Amino acid sequence: MIDEGGPSKGLYETTLLSQDVRLKGRPKLCSDCGLCDSLLRPHMPKTCVFVQNQTAEIELRLHQRQREDSEEMLFGIYRAMHIARMQRPRPHAQWSGIVTSLAGRLLELGLVDGVITTGQVPGTRFAPQPFLARTPEQVYASAGNKPCLSPNLHILDDVRKSAVRRLAFIGTGCQVHMLRAAEHELDLERLYIIGIPCSDNVTYPDLQLFLQLISCSPETVVHYEFMQDFSIWLHHEQGKRERVNFIDIPMDQLGQIFHLHVSHVSIIPIHSPI
Ligand SMILES: Cc1cc2nc3c(=O)[nH]c(=O)nc-3n(C[C@H](O)[C@H](O)[C@H](O)COP(=O)(O)OP(=O)(O)OC[C@H]3O[C@@H](n4cnc5c(N)ncnc54)[C@H](O)[C@@H]3O)c2cc1C
Repeated sequence: MIDEGGPSKGLYETTLLSQDVRLKGRPKLCSDCGLCDSLLRPHMPKTCVFVQNQTAEIELRLHQRQREDSEEMLFGIYRAMHIARMQRPRPHAQWSGIVTSLAGRLLELGLVDGVITTGQVPGTRFAPQPFLARTPEQVYASAGNKPCLSPNLHILDDVRKSAVRRLAFIGTGCQVHMLRAAEHELDLERLYIIGIPCSDNVTYPDLQLFLQLISCSPETVVHYEFMQDFSIWLHHEQGKRERVNFIDIPMDQLGQIFHLHVSHVSIIPIHSPI
């Protein structure tokens, strides 16, 4: 049963709130997936991965089998695995833009009516603003990672109010878990998931703090990556690069801001349940 009481707060506020305020009344570990800000809030205890991880059951329902070998233990159940990149990278994409290209193509081919994807709050580079895209161009414009917690499932309220019955969702493992566990409430004809990996995540204010502490020019950072050479590579506007050794990160000032470690919660790259 859907609680018609309405969402607790708006998207913009959710994104910008501090962690303490945000997590009030939530499970101790919360990735702000947005479900609790939607009308599906009453289903949180039965869908939240941090309350009860149902990955094995969900995979069994979708694939009619369990993970079988060591590769699947790491990556989830798959039919085929490919390493690929776009021949012509999309502007502003995180890597080459495969994720937004797949979702845009679903709209171009008329296989879906809408895509839940994540743009940015106007005037910011990284504050995430999920929305329901209805055209390929809107999806392409949402390219690029906003490396912080994003309440994407809040947008399911927009889906329920709209005529969208064939939906694509781009999101992280924990969001995908909640969506798969709640999908029977949505009355969708078809659901495509384009999963993106996510192991650690932070709130937007904590991301700003992090960049201020580690970078000599936090406001010009367009992209950063934790690399295998034990350093963070920060890419700035106009192509400048900065490298910060892990050992030089002021952990004493950062506290516990990277608080989530949700590795590979069975993300299915693209899948239709029907
Ligand atoms: C918080 C976070 C941490 C990540 N950490 C890693 C990592 O350590 N290593 C790694 O390999 N990959 C990581 N990823 C995934 C990586 O960003 C994607 O795989 C990458 O964007 C794909 O590149 P692309 O050029 O194909 O995507 P693009 O075509 O640029 O599309 C990026 C897509 O990501 C979506 N998106 C952006 N920000 C968010 C968000 N906050 N929440 C949900 N969706 C979002 C957008 O809707 C867009 O559709 C992380 C993603 C997030 C959200």
